[in-house]
Amino acid sequence: MPRGLVPAPALADGDATLDALPGVGPAMAAKLAERGLRTLQDLWFFLPLRYEDRTRLTPIRDLRPGPGQQAEGRVRQVERVFRGRPMLKVALADEAGALLHLRFFHFRGPQAAAFQPGRRVRVFGEVRPGAQGWEIVHPSYRVLADDDSAPLDDRLTPVYPAVEGLGPITVARLVHAALERLPKADALELLPAEALAGLSLPGLRDALVTVHRPPLDADVPALLSGTHPAQQRLAFEELLAHGLGLRRQRIALQEHGAVALPRAPEATDRLKGGFAFALTGAQQRVLDEIAVDLARPRPMLRLVQGDVGSGKTVVAALAAMQAVSAGRQVTVMAPTELLAEQHLANFRRWFEPLGVEVCWLAGKVTGKARREALAAIADGRAGVVVGTHALMQDGVVFARLGLVVIDEQHRFGVHQRLALRDKGLEGERVPHQLVMTATPIPRTLAMTAYADLDVSVIDELPPGRTPVTTVALAADRRPELVERVRLACAEGRQAYWVCPLIEDSEEIEAQAAQTTWEQLSAALPELRVALLHGRMRPAEKLATMRSFKDCEVQLLVSTTVIEVGVDVPNASLMVIENAERLGLAQLHQLRGRVGRGRAASSCDLLYQPPLGAIARERLDVMRRSNDGFVIAEKDLALRGPGELLGTRQTGLAAFRMADLARDARLLPAVHALAEQLLAEAPVVAEAVIARWVGTAARYASA
Ligand code: ADP
Ligand code: MG
Repeated sequence: MPRGLVPAPALADGDATLDALPGVGPAMAAKLAERGLRTLQDLWFFLPLRYEDRTRLTPIRDLRPGPGQQAEGRVRQVERVFRGRPMLKVALADEAGALLHLRFFHFRGPQAAAFQPGRRVRVFGEVRPGAQGWEIVHPSYRVLADDDSAPLDDRLTPVYPAVEGLGPITVARLVHAALERLPKADALELLPAEALAGLSLPGLRDALVTVHRPPLDADVPALLSGTHPAQQRLAFEELLAHGLGLRRQRIALQEHGAVALPRAPEATDRLKGGFAFALTGAQQRVLDEIAVDLARPRPMLRLVQGDVGSGKTVVAALAAMQAVSAGRQVTVMAPTELLAEQHLANFRRWFEPLGVEVCWLAGKVTGKARREALAAIADGRAGVVVGTHALMQDGVVFARLGLVVIDEQHRFGVHQRLALRDKGLEGERVPHQLVMTATPIPRTLAMTAYADLDVSVIDELPPGRTPVTTVALAADRRPELVERVRLACAEGRQAYWVCPLIEDSEEIEAQAAQTTWEQLSAALPELRVALLHGRMRPAEKLATMRSFKDCEVQLLVSTTVIEVGVDVPNASLMVIENAERLGLAQLHQLRGRVGRGRAASSCDLLYQPPLGAIARERLDVMRRSNDGFVIAEKDLALRGPGELLGTRQTGLAAFRMADLARDARLLPAVHALAEQLLAEAPVVAEAVIARWVGTAARYASA
């Protein structure tokens, strides 16, 4: 073992089960185990979600909207009111005479009776501006005797995640009892000192003690914001554990074999001959990366990131050709029928002239058509199989699947990807996998979220595209936009009018689109205007899209269902209503539907004033940039990674301490150390993973 790397310690105490703690019997141990807490070490790493600051009182007039504030006053007025349900209202006044209103919706008689006028009450909770001044709904509170000196806390109170069946005080007590048995610093530490030195982070033991029991002189603002060195130290180790877990998964994947699919320059050249254009440099480079992977007897797992319109489909088709030339089948799965149909049309157009059968499988393929498709897939006649989720069904059996292509992979979960892959299991061997996404994610994040994948980036758009001009307009400018649509269509172009979700219901969304469609049809009688929303039957949706594509329809009014992958180069104008409600990634996806042809395109973002600061910033980003990566960086900063990536795919939102947006500066050191540990001290790597991630199923699935 190289110098500086300690061996994984035995941690005798850490492995002790929780019934070793005073007051923990079998019933309590079972409840803790439900929450994944079995050993002392599990409790050491059961970290506070946040802190409450009960170390000071704020005079009522200095309260500000926001959580975690503590104040004191005397009961001025108590009122029980009934507005649909009983409510208790209590007004407190402090010495300066400022009023603070408390409201309770759940209360019992004795509780109400305790608020005697004149009694001193200390409250803690989230302050909001109410009808009559500051108010707190359901504060935690204590009614104090006049002679109660009621000392303030001397340190921050950690708030732990809930454990079902146990109160917060019990949980805190158990964590503290476990901390009494923390071993000495050396026995606990897994990371080499050099790795931490450059980052000025404390040792693990200090860090744990600090976050669980912040010392009296701790930097309170830093602790509240998660930037205290103790928290950063834990975040560092947690990021390391996740990075190691993903890398280990990748190593496990490599241990499966795969059928090598040799490069097939002649066949791919023939396919290219059918395209009306030459590949961009970026497409060619990414294709080369894929071609090299496929030719190896190890399974490829490669993510192709490319902005909307960068031409990922063509790259996938050329990769498919390499597999088909080697006598293998390829399957292409897309998240929506619309998108899958579009792929089907492209693949048929490109492959069938070369004698490769392209077969279609979606939910609506039933009866005889389905039986025939399944037969062609099973006997190997179908070289390329395009479809939707239906491809994952049990009845679908491939003769010799060599490559799985998944488009817009953020729409699918890891398990779905694996389900499709496993249709190609041959003994230990698995098919190659190519996943494509138009949701670019920042590089730092990609290294963390996708440490188990290779990533290629198509960072160049095909020539001849003019960047989309984007403007943001208040909703009362709508009439001008109607005129712009009229003009654009009179010049032979087409337009989208998008009405996004206003309430959390597909039905209401569909209605809003319906109403807009009626209005626009009336305002633009000379145009053919069509409507598209998620509650239409798939066949209707397809028919509508097809007539838009064939230019029979000039204006398409739709909900956000057109978001993904729809390709109509003649459409050059997009209006998005209520744009302030959409995330950046989604706006960028939508906007990517225009700017696909030669005509100068524009995207008009309509918003309902007044705009909040973040909404304004989002719209500004959209106006200033057409670059998906720039937008993704901004989105990360504005929203945080959980929302950006979706929890389903990565589980990233499940971090206990780390926050990718806040802690991005740690990532380079995390990645370097992960490589070092895997190469030089795999036992330590395992111990780090076990400590933070345990044996979580998501890493067992390579
Ligand atoms: P995306 O990456 O968004 O999936 P597509 O694969 O749908 O992009 O390609 C967008 C459009 O660009 C399609 O009409 C496609 O035929 C066209 N295209 C792809 N590559 C090129 C290229 N190298 N030159 C010109 N047009 C291209
Ligand atoms: Mg696409």
